Amino acid sequence: MRLADRLDRVRASQTQQVLVAVERLRQQGVEVIDLGAGEPDFPTPDHVKIAAAAAIEDNFTKYTAGAGIIGLREAIATHYAERYGAAYDATGVVVTAGGKQALYNIAVALFGPGDEVITHVPGWPSIVEQVHLAGAEPVGVRTSAEEGFELRAESVLEALTPRTRGIVINSPANPTGAVMSETELHRLADGLGDRDVWVILDLCYEQLIYDDTPHNLPGVLRDRLGDRAVLVGSASKSYAMTGWRCGWLLAPVAVAEAANAVQSHSTSHATSITQHATLAALTGPQACVAAMRDEYRTRRDTLFDWMNSDARFQVVRPAGAFYLFPDVSELLSPDERRTSADLALALLNEAHVAVTPGEAFDAPGFIRVSYAASMEQLREAWTRIQQFLG
Ligand code: GLU
Repeated sequence: MRLADRLDRVRASQTQQVLVAVERLRQQGVEVIDLGAGEPDFPTPDHVKIAAAAAIEDNFTKYTAGAGIIGLREAIATHYAERYGAAYDATGVVVTAGGKQALYNIAVALFGPGDEVITHVPGWPSIVEQVHLAGAEPVGVRTSAEEGFELRAESVLEALTPRTRGIVINSPANPTGAVMSETELHRLADGLGDRDVWVILDLCYEQLIYDDTPHNLPGVLRDRLGDRAVLVGSASKSYAMTGWRCGWLLAPVAVAEAANAVQSHSTSHATSITQHATLAALTGPQACVAAMRDEYRTRRDTLFDWMNSDARFQVVRPAGAFYLFPDVSELLSPDERRTSADLALALLNEAHVAVTPGEAFDAPGFIRVSYAASMEQLREAWTRIQQFLG
């Protein structure tokens, strides 16, 4: 069977494969604790569900404009203006089927053969694969556990070549939870000068920052590189809406139009019902977001303390998102579990705890443990891991 050449370079999403493995075991009746999937365990807030039901009742079940209903595009623009002072007109906003589609539209709209796109490693695999799908070349800049996986402007600037067309930054980052500092983003803007390079900021975890660190990256980016910047966001993590598939991008109008043109030939638009639900999420009460964030913070601190007190796990306390990303090389050996992928598989099959191997993020020797699970599940998972490891 002959597939398109581009598939030689593209692998199916490894983060999604963990979901499939868990599902398979559950179907066999195994009771798996899933710390693999990167998604909130909380239900979608009630007022959002009610808005979706009302949308169905009111027959908002037809096509919408490709870039989304205008009320939602305005609400998204308002969100970034009010939170970060990053002013965008609604015409620069495109609503997408998840943050992933926003990033994909942008990759296809801005990058092509011969172009290099810099991103940070360890990092979310879809960023790299989308660059491949666009025909361009991803260039990884490695961040280190010793520096808390913080992205330094200097390392990005060192990776620039005449072929660099874009830089994709995810902050807080999946899988490390690291938040890029405003100072580093200023340094990056200084170093870029007037170079013709796009900076794409993936803010999917923006509402999940637990410590008091200045993190107005959208504001800094809009001010310093507004004509070359794209912001990407999502309802998935902030409002526990992963399955609804709603994301968005904010960009200079010509870029938004290009991204919308790409989308117009694939999904057309995000689901009409989802758009109404997301409008309710963004404009309704925000106490639910704060409550979920507080709970994630408690879980982060608890799981971090447990893990940190076991010398076999080298773990950094993350500033955001909902993952711990420990170095587990102490637990690997040539004759038993050679790789972190072997370890993750053994944890799944023998301890019935799903985690994501670091290999998925181009970081062998690490595992990603999601704390988007109840305290009870985390306690049970940690007990199982300890028993398994002996
Ligand atoms: N973002 C989530 C994760 O990293 C969901 C899976 C995916 O879409 O890649 O686990």
